[in-house]
Amino acid sequence: MSRPKLIPRLCVIGVGLIGGSLARSLKQAGAVGEVIGAGRRESTLRTALELGVIDHFSTDLPLAVSEADVVVVAVPLGAIFKVIAAIADHLPANCVLTDVGSAKGSVIADVYRVFGAPPATFVPGHPIAGTEQSGVEASFPELFCHRRVILTPLLETSASAHEVVRRMWETVGAEVVDMGVDHHDEVLAATSHLPHMLAYALVDSLARMDDRAEIFRYAAGGFRDFTRIASSDPRMWHDICVANRKHLLEVTARFSEDLNRLIQAIEASDGDAILEIFGRAKRARDNLYLNEA
Ligand code: NAP
Repeated sequence: MSRPKLIPRLCVIGVGLIGGSLARSLKQAGAVGEVIGAGRRESTLRTALELGVIDHFSTDLPLAVSEADVVVVAVPLGAIFKVIAAIADHLPANCVLTDVGSAKGSVIADVYRVFGAPPATFVPGHPIAGTEQSGVEASFPELFCHRRVILTPLLETSASAHEVVRRMWETVGAEVVDMGVDHHDEVLAATSHLPHMLAYALVDSLARMDDRAEIFRYAAGGFRDFTRIASSDPRMWHDICVANRKHLLEVTARFSEDLNRLIQAIEASDGDAILEIFGRAKRARDNLYLNEA
């Protein structure tokens, strides 16, 4: 007799890089009975079906969630309100609702707008994993292996819903940590949202210089490493910047001050100040990553 599945019926709304990778990984682990893909464009869902990422699909969101045990909302942040508003009245009584949005305050505000008070079955989440690629074709089952997933459960969140979502992410190889909503958005503004802004701004600035062909001809590995994330989906990152505007502006202001200090040190040919900044940065980064090698 086969063991009962962790999630008999999973509905993934937004079968792209993140939703598709989660579905693939849960299937590979034998943790789901069936996966229903839902979303906006039938062509995307048909591709997901052909790739074996999902078992059925529907563009009718109320229908897609109507018999689900767990619903994962994996659409861009700007589409979350519309999606949650569409499914709110159609979720089965004990169906666990979770999301993967890169900022949590805005998703929770959307949930308040739709439900009034968040349902006990709602567990906000964010996998700290991704690539600069988008879409279901880019999804792969190992994406969350040894990566962190942050859950920001609310006072209203039930222990049982929290446990289902925690186990779902652990099943796909992730380490799950809980965090306050505001703390999550502050930390992610610094470690993810600001670096994406800098990469986009740098590439855009260089690409608009008159001698850009000459500049890019001599771009080497460092430029490639630093700017990889500027190939990420502009619409998705637009949504993230807008959703996490407050924390992003705070960390950007602080970063601007530090950049100005470096510029002043270079203007003044102040070698000690430059070496102090670079040395401090090297020690910090080495501590972070050299032990991984
Ligand atoms: P993605 O590959 O572009 O996938 C997004 C999916 O949502 C697509 O299948 C898209 O389908 C669907 N979609 C878009 N707008 C929709 C709408 N209005 N209604 C219904 N479905 C819609 O994006 P992703 O990278 O997986 O990101 C999804 C979520 O994960 C975002 O909230 C993002 O903040 C979060 N996240 C991303 C990363 C990352 O590095 N990529 C990491 C962690 C968390 P169609 O466009 O074909 O309709």
